[in-house]
Amino acid sequence: MTDLINPLDLDLNGCEALALAHGGKAFHGRNLFKWVHKHGVLDFDAMTDLPLAMRQSLAAGCRATLPEVALEQPAPDGTIKWLLDLADGQRVETVFIPEGKRRTLCVSSQVGCALDCRFCATARQGFNRNLTPGEIIGQVWTATRRTGQAPTNVVLMGMGEPLANFDAVVQAMAVMQHDLAYMLAKTRVTLSTAGLVPGIYRLKEISEVSLAVSLHAPDNALRNELVPINRKYPLEELLAACKVYAGQDKRRRITWEYVMLDGVNDSLAHAKALIRLLEGVPSKVNLIPFNPFPGSDFATSPLERVDAFRRRLIGAGLVTTTRKTRGDGIAAACGQLVGRVENRRRSLARGAPDADYARPAA
Ligand code: SAH
Repeated sequence: MTDLINPLDLDLNGCEALALAHGGKAFHGRNLFKWVHKHGVLDFDAMTDLPLAMRQSLAAGCRATLPEVALEQPAPDGTIKWLLDLADGQRVETVFIPEGKRRTLCVSSQVGCALDCRFCATARQGFNRNLTPGEIIGQVWTATRRTGQAPTNVVLMGMGEPLANFDAVVQAMAVMQHDLAYMLAKTRVTLSTAGLVPGIYRLKEISEVSLAVSLHAPDNALRNELVPINRKYPLEELLAACKVYAGQDKRRRITWEYVMLDGVNDSLAHAKALIRLLEGVPSKVNLIPFNPFPGSDFATSPLERVDAFRRRLIGAGLVTTTRKTRGDGIAAACGQLVGRVENRRRSLARGAPDADYARPAA
């Protein structure tokens, strides 16, 4: 690792301070921030509105670095998955999902995850480390350059638990929303959490991004099994925090993610319990067909059961959608991130052909 400062790790204030430290004025820091994020320029020498001496000083003490694209995998439905190499050899994945005018980017916040949700592929690799702000915003930078346009929506639903990497995630989300950077409206940035209650209260203090919560069960007994962090922060506490997060504005709904697991959480009795649980909370429910992965203990609920579940919720007045599975053939679907990488490593070790990944684009 290098001790050179990476401007990707800095927010606007940080860039202004950096400019001052390198003999420029604060507004030169704004220019630097804009060069990096709005124009995608990383070479200080090309930042023509910075004084020459400042550019030379920056070049000596800083380097703008990004996660490197190890593999790019496009799917026929337009979804693109990037496998990114970090400076220390760790790897994370980012998924771009176009749909009509919407271009959603699913971003990772940690290498691996410590939360151990039973149905999640990332959980199987354990927790490795937090991503830096530059590694998080670097995913947005990379997608913007590779697709030619900034995403319209960013969801922190890739690898990791974003509220467990609070400061870096909050900083990166602010850059996503900044006018000199990616200009995303606050409601188009969605943080998804398995339910770290203190983090929800902290987030409420400083940010107005959309909140999604991985619920997956309507009662504590079942949720303790599926999402073990529930033993620490049970449903009563989670719901109380979410009510505070939603506040008075009835349009600011909480999105509840609910993975449909065959015979586990998908009966009409579960739907009824869910309706009772969410009473009085401004809610949207997003039913996610379970994406099986090698070695997972669960099966996907049959379509009819997902439909019956959805109709039951809608009948009770809950806005409910079923998530379309995207990027299926490239293992880019929800909860599959990095599982295949591990397999790939294993099969490569056995000398098997590298079938899981297409060649990176030239
Ligand atoms: N840690 C955060 C964000 C990452 S997971 C969270 O838990 O919300 C993003 C979403 O994918 C979560 O709702 C998660 O529960 C869901 N998910 C994980 N594994 C899945 C799988 N195999 N099939 C479908 N959804 C899955």
